[in-house]
Amino acid sequence: MGKRAGETAGGDGGSGEPEGAATPTRRRALWVGGGLLAAGAVGLAARDELRHWWWQLPGNDKPRKPGEVDHRGARWVAASPENYRRADRPADYDVDRVVVHVVQGSYASALRVFRDPAHEAAAHYVVRADGRIAQAVRELDVAFHAGNRAFNERSVGIEHEGFVDRPESFTDAMYASSAALTADICRRYGFPADREHVVGHVEVPGTDHTDPGPHWDWDRYLRLVRAELRGPGPRPAKT
Ligand SMILES: [Zn+2]
Repeated sequence: MGKRAGETAGGDGGSGEPEGAATPTRRRALWVGGGLLAAGAVGLAARDELRHWWWQLPGNDKPRKPGEVDHRGARWVAASPENYRRADRPADYDVDRVVVHVVQGSYASALRVFRDPAHEAAAHYVVRADGRIAQAVRELDVAFHAGNRAFNERSVGIEHEGFVDRPESFTDAMYASSAALTADICRRYGFPADREHVVGHVEVPGTDHTDPGPHWDWDRYLRLVRAELRGPGPRPAKT
């Protein structure tokens, strides 16, 4: 989020996510370039497409337990299924990015709009000022948070309570807890904790959002994430 105050009612990252658009788009691209594509390339594209949809085949849906979370200690507060796309990451999409957001509002307000089926956006996690973490969308699924379809498919989105223009929003407890979460994500998917892989919403191509803004301390955040990664393993979130 972070476009402006009160945007939570508008929709953060909903654009670029027309349901089922990948298939016709990819087919059209193949058709246009058809003369140049070797048979092998078509085969690869078809396999890639199948990889993205295989969970819909009978018997291929991974078992999900109600209330289950991906980060130990996070509280499950489900988003409306309208605000994300069911998937089976990382089997269908590789996950190699964390996108850092700021709510432009409270933890509770973020979780409230994520439950609204008309909001058209949700992130996987919301971090509160005191370090508490809620998970609203499973990491298996593609949450609509970045405003860029490809980025949504490859990333985990983390919202932080507060406002981009209020430096006091970003507390020690929030940094510590969020860094432990990002470290857990980096470790589980095997990507490095650097500024190429851990980005702000503002850095997502095509976005008009500014979060997390100039008061978010990236050096401090990545230092904390790397310290977590050097440690013994995932720490449970504060509950
Ligand atoms: Zn954002």
